[in-house]
Amino acid sequence: MEIKQDENWWSRDYAKQLDQQDPLADFRNEFYIEKDIIYFDGNSLGLLSKPAEKAVHHVLDSWKQFGINGWTSGENPWYYLAESLGELSAPLVGAEPEEVVVTGSTTINLHQLVASFYQPSGSRTKILADELNFPSDIYALQSQLEQKGYDPDKHLIQVKSTDGRTLDEQQIISEMTDEIALIVLPSVLYRSGQVLDIKRLTEAAHSRGILIGFDLCHSIGVIPHQLDEWEVDFAFWCTYKHLNGGPGSVGGLYVNRRFFGRNPGLAGWFSSDKEKQFDMEHNLSPAATAGAFQIGTPHVLSMAPLIGSLNMFAEAGIEQIRTKSLKLTDYLLSLVRRRLHGYHFTIANPLSHDSRGGHIFIEHEEAVRICKALKEAGVIPDFRAPNGIRLAPVALYNTFEEVWQVVDLLRTIMEEERFLRFEKKREVIA
Ligand SMILES: *Cc1c(COP(=O)(O)O)cnc(C)c1O
Repeated sequence: MEIKQDENWWSRDYAKQLDQQDPLADFRNEFYIEKDIIYFDGNSLGLLSKPAEKAVHHVLDSWKQFGINGWTSGENPWYYLAESLGELSAPLVGAEPEEVVVTGSTTINLHQLVASFYQPSGSRTKILADELNFPSDIYALQSQLEQKGYDPDKHLIQVKSTDGRTLDEQQIISEMTDEIALIVLPSVLYRSGQVLDIKRLTEAAHSRGILIGFDLCHSIGVIPHQLDEWEVDFAFWCTYKHLNGGPGSVGGLYVNRRFFGRNPGLAGWFSSDKEKQFDMEHNLSPAATAGAFQIGTPHVLSMAPLIGSLNMFAEAGIEQIRTKSLKLTDYLLSLVRRRLHGYHFTIANPLSHDSRGGHIFIEHEEAVRICKALKEAGVIPDFRAPNGIRLAPVALYNTFEEVWQVVDLLRTIMEEERFLRFEKKREVIA
């Protein structure tokens, strides 16, 4: 690896050199970063950027100025915002503009998509998922099965993990039997950061006549996708993690154009063709785009930050973001190996670039207390029970020097056994 060719690659000066060569370095100035804080939790809640803040003020001003006419007036008419933000998101997922809409939340969109695409018939009645996915996705799938009168214990098949961290694609494919009607998987596992091979899984599902969708919460904004080219049936995501849309910002979904014109499983007046919506008819004419999977009035104030934030992604380019993200995590892993050697950390994320997302995951039996010691010193990590530490250096606002500082601090915490001062108990939000 390039990083190791310099004989002083583990020095702080080397980190500073990497920052000087970083083509995305200037984006950091666009974010609000608290003094003396190193924020490595952008995969849980991204930071506020100045463009996002400005966009919120802009939308508030349009309300102030236009009242109800804000739906169709001003720079960003609210009536079209879900679609225009969808268009801005499309390059991040590799889709046509009409295949993406900004609406709902991860869990709501999953409900909508399962209600639309899970059509059990004959002996094909089961949903295939995995045992490592985020609980909300699993709860949604269980309740959707119950809605259709099926027992989730029998009809939700969760592919097992042999190591508790990763999934084996071959094993997933071997579970794609003729009893499976629908598959829902994460693109990147939220704990270990493993990237699943979406293209391969989609091909395997389709060759067996099964529809497949992906949860992109941990990949959107950090990894490029080619959903349209891979013919993925549907996908959904949140926008408050890598996309920096702010707490509770509106989510997104993608539906492949093959399905345009269908009625959504959960309909509402915003599922309408926009030209016909105000005809107020009692027969829905669904939009001929992914817009048909909206339900009710968009949460305009919670979409506003995305106007600023998604424009930054367009400027930076997702390929460039991925390149820097991999460089940051390569560097972080190298430093963990060299400087934390002997302190019983286990690197628990996959190592190859193809199978590693935007964060690294290290395990330690004292992870809870180590995270508390990090926080006390101004580093924001992410603890994942029972023994995991997620560290996410984010391409748009973190630096190589911060990576160096975090590992240096971890070494001090271990050397001085600083973690012993804390209670071995997780916080309510961890
Ligand atoms: C963050 C996350 C969620 C959160 O769902 P919300 O509906 O936004 O609360 C769901 N699934 C995964 C995989 C996530 O990473």
